[in-house]
Amino acid sequence: MSDFSIRRLDAGTADFSSELDTLLAWESVADTRVEATVADILREVKARGDAAVIEYTNRFDRRELQQAQEFCLQREDLKAALERIPADKRSALEAAAERVRSYHEHQLQASWQYQEADGTVLGQQITAMERVGIYVPGGKASYPSSVLMNAIPARVAGVDEILMVVPAPDNQLSDLVLAAAAIAGVDKVFTIGGAQAVAALAYGTEAVARVDKIVGPGNIFVASAKRAVFGQVAIDMIAGPSEILVICDGETDPDWIAMDLLSQAEHDEQAQSILLSPDAGFLNAVEQSLQKLLADLPREEIASRSLADRGALILVRDIEQAIEVSNRIAPEHLEVSVDTPEQYLPKIRHAGAIFLGRYTAEALGDYCAGPNHVLPTSGTARFSSPLGVYDFQKRSSIIFCSPQGADTLGRVAATLAKGEGLDAHARSAEYRVRETSD
Ligand code: NAD
Repeated sequence: MSDFSIRRLDAGTADFSSELDTLLAWESVADTRVEATVADILREVKARGDAAVIEYTNRFDRRELQQAQEFCLQREDLKAALERIPADKRSALEAAAERVRSYHEHQLQASWQYQEADGTVLGQQITAMERVGIYVPGGKASYPSSVLMNAIPARVAGVDEILMVVPAPDNQLSDLVLAAAAIAGVDKVFTIGGAQAVAALAYGTEAVARVDKIVGPGNIFVASAKRAVFGQVAIDMIAGPSEILVICDGETDPDWIAMDLLSQAEHDEQAQSILLSPDAGFLNAVEQSLQKLLADLPREEIASRSLADRGALILVRDIEQAIEVSNRIAPEHLEVSVDTPEQYLPKIRHAGAIFLGRYTAEALGDYCAGPNHVLPTSGTARFSSPLGVYDFQKRSSIIFCSPQGADTLGRVAATLAKGEGLDAHARSAEYRVRETSD
């Protein structure tokens, strides 16, 4: 049996609100040493391009690169990896990719226009970004699902060129990651990582073309570099530790719910798994299941640390109260494991992804249900959304004035411009005002 503990809270007690604040407290550690290291790397790559990328890659990833071509892979290399992987892995990747693609096709935004009575046309034109960069982490593990989730929305949006960076420590690179890149339609892969890869994408080097946006998760060096280059390029988000919040009426198999909680807890020690239920007996049963199931998990140590430090089983009055608590937490993943869960949907205000019903394990969303697994964490679902096609599209506004429209708008604009003391603005508008209509 593993050494196991998880805190128990009761939403009906006077102290609950402050206990919840303590439970949720998480500061992204702004490590000044990391920031200083990253600033040096960014400066060097900006100044010296590939030579600096090669030096840092050799140092941090234990490689022996001599020239930039050695870290550049083309579509043919990706296709070769796709041919090498086992057939079951290939068909699982292809099935997941197909589902992710068809879900994201629903997110495509369309341009629109309308005409006013005087003939003036107003509208909004949607265009895709030209070139984007995807960071795929690769220091300690490999993540083919991240390749699909980041690249496919960009492809669906109509991005011209998708570049991917992934570190290959000790020259090791997962064929699954490259195969996923082939399936998702990535154009070029660079086997570099960390802040030097982010710098190469943001500033451009001889081998790596500068991109318009960098997306994808990574360790503290990657997150810090993304934060630092924001403005030069767009970024998706700075992700915190993974989270799951489960609301259950007590009628689902406690082993199922326990394993759903563990599926987040095994990510890392900082991950957060919370269960809300009105059934105290069920909370006890899940606690026992957790203890039993943990002992069997290869990542037991990480999962038990995460449950002990950041997990909680919370007793609530009813499902409505559970949803109120959930809205306050704004979790990355929310499971509603009850009968007719759809009745609660209108009350759910803040959550990255919502999993309805007893059969919808959050893990399905991680890999293959279709929606994106790159989701807002640490309460940021209050104001942000899953990664999607819209992240790779831009909007330009359109104004096409008729002579009559120029007359009407010119008078309004000139008056406002004069009020602001901007004479050229006023005259520019007035040139197009018809004298006869005075
Ligand atoms: P990584 O690719 O993010 O980082 C590896 C790189 O870090 C190396 O190439 C190196 O350049 C750099 N680095 C390491 N030590 C350094 C040092 N001392 N100084 C300067 N640079 C250094 O891979 P990782 O380390 O395995 O981290 C992956 C992270 O991504 C984990 O935190 C994981 O939880 C997270 N992740 C998140 C999601 C998600 O969807 N939110 C998915 C997958 C992974």
